[in-house]
Amino acid sequence: MSRPIQNRTCIFCSIVAREAPASFVHEDEELVAFMDINPVTPGHLLVVPRAHLPALADVPDTVAARMFTVAQRLAAALRSTELLTEGINLFYADGAAAFQSVFHSHLHVIPRFRGDGFRFHIHRGADPSRAHLDEAAAVIRTAAAG
Ligand code: 5GP
Ligand code: ZN
Repeated sequence: MSRPIQNRTCIFCSIVAREAPASFVHEDEELVAFMDINPVTPGHLLVVPRAHLPALADVPDTVAARMFTVAQRLAAALRSTELLTEGINLFYADGAAAFQSVFHSHLHVIPRFRGDGFRFHIHRGADPSRAHLDEAAAVIRTAAAG
């Protein structure tokens, strides 16, 4: 199911167009999924819209929902394989500050097992009051309603 390449400089567009190689695990009208070339753990997959959508905000809600559905199905498939899968992380990087390195939307499906070495280094220094949490919630609620 190949289509014309959409963004010549985008590796995922090249994969979708079958101009670059990838090991596919899923294909449909809207999405593909293939093995990550540099996996965090064995079985690490990427669920990728066919369309070149750089940011999370660019992804239509129907496509976003479908990405999650396909990721959920592949997570279940991973758990049924011989691959060591005690848990799964779904990970979406939106923006360079959030570790996005390929600016074509994708959802990581990462098999996890104890001792796999995957770590987040998190520093939660703040201990916000309820008033601060309520204030932040109000700002976000207003923005989300707009
Ligand atoms: P990001 O940091 O943008 O969330 O993740 C990009 C992911 O794409 C990385 O995990 C990286 O290993 C993977 N990746 C980058 N280039 C290629 C490629 O050419 N083929 C495949 N299959 N994965 C790639
Ligand atoms: Zn692209």
